[in-house]
Amino acid sequence: MVYTRAMRYRAETTRYEAMEYRRCGESGLALSALSLGLWHNFGQEADSQAARAMVECAFDRGITHFDLANNYGPPPGSAEERFGRILKESLSPYRDELVISTKAGYTMWPGPYGDWGSRKYLVASLDQSLKRMGLEYVDIFYHHRPDPNTPLEGTMGALSHLVNLGKALYVGISNYKADEANRAMALLKEAGTPCILNQVRYSILDRWVEKDGLLDAMANRCGTICFSPLAQGLLSSTYLDGSIPTESRAREDHFLKQKMITPYRVQLLNELNTIARSRGQSLSQMAISWLLKDERITSVLIGARTTAQLGENIDAISHTAPFTAEEREAIDRASERWG
Ligand code: NDP
Repeated sequence: MVYTRAMRYRAETTRYEAMEYRRCGESGLALSALSLGLWHNFGQEADSQAARAMVECAFDRGITHFDLANNYGPPPGSAEERFGRILKESLSPYRDELVISTKAGYTMWPGPYGDWGSRKYLVASLDQSLKRMGLEYVDIFYHHRPDPNTPLEGTMGALSHLVNLGKALYVGISNYKADEANRAMALLKEAGTPCILNQVRYSILDRWVEKDGLLDAMANRCGTICFSPLAQGLLSSTYLDGSIPTESRAREDHFLKQKMITPYRVQLLNELNTIARSRGQSLSQMAISWLLKDERITSVLIGARTTAQLGENIDAISHTAPFTAEEREAIDRASERWG
């Protein structure tokens, strides 16, 4: 749809009726059980109307949390610019109903101050992100990955400084292992700006957070939000027949490699799909429900290419049943064989 002033977006009045909201650890902030991530499909080349429709559809169905990073695009920065335009044209009247996050930690500009975890980089990067999105503050600012060369005190001190400046309301970490996360949380707590959210890769097919002890380390202290819950689309109907559609992440062969999709793994995906169908769900819905069955999980951070995908995933909130012991075991067995 081409928008004019007279056709301004109005959010659905029913938007809070079906979504579930979960608190981030010990903080007072609740997130929608599903959050929308803008890593893919919101860059410079993305379809503007599809991108806007996804954000509006998400909000209309109770998703309050939108997740960005300085480097989302391509090119880096362009997803924040696009989100800024969507905010201005559609969602700005609803700013106080939104939790907007961004991150810094990956390469953003050349030289020693455009990457990793120094105060110099983090302060400049958040200023740039705010400018691109047209915001005065973000709700959550994350350090995107641990920096082996900057003392953790320095990185956490910078996050705390940004909260004290009013440029972020809360802070979080991402891609930290359990021991690093424990140290980071202790430093932030000491500084009076507790870490409210840890963003981790977690899905039926990727269990590293269970093995690392990270989920247990976070429990009751800090929220956990899971990214790539569909293993970048593998846990969906897309690859079940073994082919790689033109419009799919695996077709790009960059973040999701085609060599992952072997006949053996396609068979495992079909086994998981059979379990999902017997539960009355699609595979993507079961992948989401499987994460949300764990009360330690605050929110599941999904991506989408279309509003149809997004709608199917949001339906997981209402189309779910408790997992039986047999289902959980069968899912675990398929996951172990995935390798
Ligand atoms: P997912 O695992 O949910 O993968 C999303 C992709 O799966 C979509 O783009 C689409 O890909 C496919 N898909 C989604 N729903 C369906 C459906 N119903 N049917 C068929 N295909 C579907 O999550 P992402 O990997 O995109 O990560 C989500 C968010 O997490 C990111 O946007 C970002 O905000 C965050 N993230 C954070 C990271 C970090 O380091 N902190 C790293 C990575 C992500 P397609 O149709 O193109 O195949």
